[in-house]
Amino acid sequence: MAVRTRIAPSPTGSPHLGTAYVGLMNRVFADATGGQFVLRIEDTDQARSSAESESAITGALNWLGIEWDEGPDVGGPSGPYRQSDRLSLYRQHATDLVAAGEAFYCFCSPERLEAVRREQISRKETPRYDGACLNLTQSEVSARLEAGEPHVVRLKVPQEGNCSFQDHLRGEIQVAWQQVDMQVLLKSDGFPTYHLAACVDDHLMRISHLIRGEEWISSVPKHQLLARAFGWQTPVYVHLPLIRNPDGSKLSKRRNPTSVDYYRRIGILPEALLNYLATLGWSMPDESELFDLDQMRESFSLDRLRTGAPVFDQVKLRAFNGKYLRKMDADKFLRRYLSWADESGASKRIAALVQDRSEAFSDIAPQIDYLIGNRSQVCQASFEHKSLDIDAQLRVLAFAAWTLEALQAWHSDAIHAACKHCADVMQVRFRDFVSPLFVATSGRSVSLPLFDSMHILGKDVTLVRIRDAIECLGGLSKKRTKALQREFDALGAGP
Ligand code: GLU
Repeated sequence: MAVRTRIAPSPTGSPHLGTAYVGLMNRVFADATGGQFVLRIEDTDQARSSAESESAITGALNWLGIEWDEGPDVGGPSGPYRQSDRLSLYRQHATDLVAAGEAFYCFCSPERLEAVRREQISRKETPRYDGACLNLTQSEVSARLEAGEPHVVRLKVPQEGNCSFQDHLRGEIQVAWQQVDMQVLLKSDGFPTYHLAACVDDHLMRISHLIRGEEWISSVPKHQLLARAFGWQTPVYVHLPLIRNPDGSKLSKRRNPTSVDYYRRIGILPEALLNYLATLGWSMPDESELFDLDQMRESFSLDRLRTGAPVFDQVKLRAFNGKYLRKMDADKFLRRYLSWADESGASKRIAALVQDRSEAFSDIAPQIDYLIGNRSQVCQASFEHKSLDIDAQLRVLAFAAWTLEALQAWHSDAIHAACKHCADVMQVRFRDFVSPLFVATSGRSVSLPLFDSMHILGKDVTLVRIRDAIECLGGLSKKRTKALQREFDALGAGP
């Protein structure tokens, strides 16, 4: 069987370390077996998907040197590679499934489904679809479809017995059909859900091995049913353990920056990040620590993948990066440093900020230290403020973080407008609103213009600094975070 692997990121945010990690394993496995690696963009969640996120993801993969043989930009024989360009295929497959009796139309209203869910929860049952529309007669279904009643297509699921499948790393996995919900395959707006679209595409794109995160194991029973219904062979499943924080918790941006862009912006080398990611879940046959993509390709086999949870440790990553920096000759080191410092024309933007504020070149470095390097540590005293107490500043910082997180276009005018809107709905004077943000961003209360600074630092570094400031001010309990989040939503404070 020709090996074909894929990653299928959803373009709904910053390029995640997990995407890079899974992409790397798929790429090298395809290379090691003379196969091909496909990039597919799963953008069927129209509300959350964006072109910015897609280009950030492809940009991060390019930066790391992970290339794909087929994808939305390079094309290929199994295209299109963006799911929003394949909608008619999914609709056709959903219709075929209903005709074959493997799926059914469901007309239940969101209100009914919510009432059923509540009842199940009150009975301490796992919420799932209760099968009401399974009993509709053929003529009833036709009449309701003809009348234009909103509907979805759901998968029929056996009520007894177990689903059993093999995972290359874990052996046989069994799931009771009772635990599998009658999954919506096609939504009422005609868009497919992940399950239908991914299965159809993996089949049509002739994907032979699904190397992906273990959070997708629970989807396999539904995918098995779909494959069986269509008479398709299922791919080999290789579910990689999730990357974790050193304390064992799931890698999440609340604790550790998870965006590849963050590591790029703070000056981690792509080859060091790639090497470090590779060592998290895989080892060279001779256990050597430092290796490049070519060496990995030559020695790669799935059997050397580790099954224990890989831990992403920033201290270790920095140590790795330090080794790479030290092994460069002086010229290369300088070249790489200068090209990093000027990435995306940062030097020009920084120069534009300091030109009017300097009388000699030696005035520049003290003004821009926090833009090039880490900002100085902050503590409660750094946030001393005339009118806002610590709690009010925490509220501002939390609201600002959520606002900026949701902001798609990252440039100073857009950041300014989003912050202004947030301050207005919070009924906080703009001067007061920006004050804790100055400290969080630059480490001091007076700095170069705030929104230009945020623009230059990039979204990920800015957010890490705001979150760090929140921690320095004592942090927010889960309860307080929830209450603030409710208020944030109620006020419509987001961009
Ligand atoms: N779109 C899914 C994601 O965002 C893909 C999951 C899969 O690999 O099947 O990761």
